[in-house]
Amino acid sequence: MNTLLPTTIVGSLPKPLWLSEPEKLWSPWKLHDDELRDGKLDAQTLAVHEQSRAGLDIISDGEQTRQHFVTTFIEHLAGVDFDRRETVRIRDRYDASVPTVVGAVGRERPVFAADAARLRAATDQPIKWALPGPMTMIDTLYDAHYHSREKLAWEFATILNQEARDLEAAGVDIIQIDEPAFNVFFDELKDWGVAALERATEGLNCRTAVHICYGYGIKANTDWKATLGSEWRQYEESFPLLQQSSIDIVSLESHNSRVPVELIELLRGKTVMLGAIDVANDTIETPHEVAETLRNALPYVDVDKLYASTNCGMAPLTRSVAREKMVALAKGASLLRREIS
Ligand SMILES: [Zn+2]
Repeated sequence: MNTLLPTTIVGSLPKPLWLSEPEKLWSPWKLHDDELRDGKLDAQTLAVHEQSRAGLDIISDGEQTRQHFVTTFIEHLAGVDFDRRETVRIRDRYDASVPTVVGAVGRERPVFAADAARLRAATDQPIKWALPGPMTMIDTLYDAHYHSREKLAWEFATILNQEARDLEAAGVDIIQIDEPAFNVFFDELKDWGVAALERATEGLNCRTAVHICYGYGIKANTDWKATLGSEWRQYEESFPLLQQSSIDIVSLESHNSRVPVELIELLRGKTVMLGAIDVANDTIETPHEVAETLRNALPYVDVDKLYASTNCGMAPLTRSVAREKMVALAKGASLLRREIS
């Protein structure tokens, strides 16, 4: 990126109400078959337009073609039975009915490459595409085949690498892997988590990012956050490992969080995508607040390695709130950019 403090959203945006019911996770589609395919791509084009009009520098698909950031990818894989469901505890936090791994997992054809090609055609700006990380994927499934979280994660990492190569070929500039599970399973993080992440992004020429976070604004997450005390130091476990890894960019939340900003010093040398927009409430940040959040990070990250972002996905918000928050993000970054130069 030539721009100082480039701006981008972490991933999801609320969908238009003609496509699915807003402010709801796993909201069912309102269209079917060919109409659904067209509707999703129209929503994606609209998401590009809204990000661009808000003044953002790196454009995402807004995850308009997927129902959920983890399950939609898994739905396209062989070896997972969505009719056979078991209740498991997700991220050690809440119970959910999840599909079962019944055989060897595999990707029969590209999942998002065609959608990414449409995103590429819709804008001349750099584009970013997010995929769920191996650890987050296994944590959303019941495994009746491998009986080993590590083995299944490694299989998913191989599949993700195939998908990432197709996305790169479609013209994606930044491939982001979402691994919120890195803030929960510290032993696995050290044993194989970062290695699986590197396997997923192996051999790519485009830039690579990992997004770790404390989850978006749903009750299970806000309840969990309330138990974490006055300082959230979970990133202390992952950052030193990521600093040593082949990943280019690390995305984390900051505004309204209790993450001590000095923890990003542990990433020195990497690009930091810092969340300056809270996605867990409807209050629109002022450009001054955004600039302040970013400014507070400057002692700990080289200024040419700081990206301005949202804390997490904005899917649970209303469209107008999401739009205003994107505008605030762009204005805040521009305020700090002027101050620096
Ligand atoms: Zn997140």
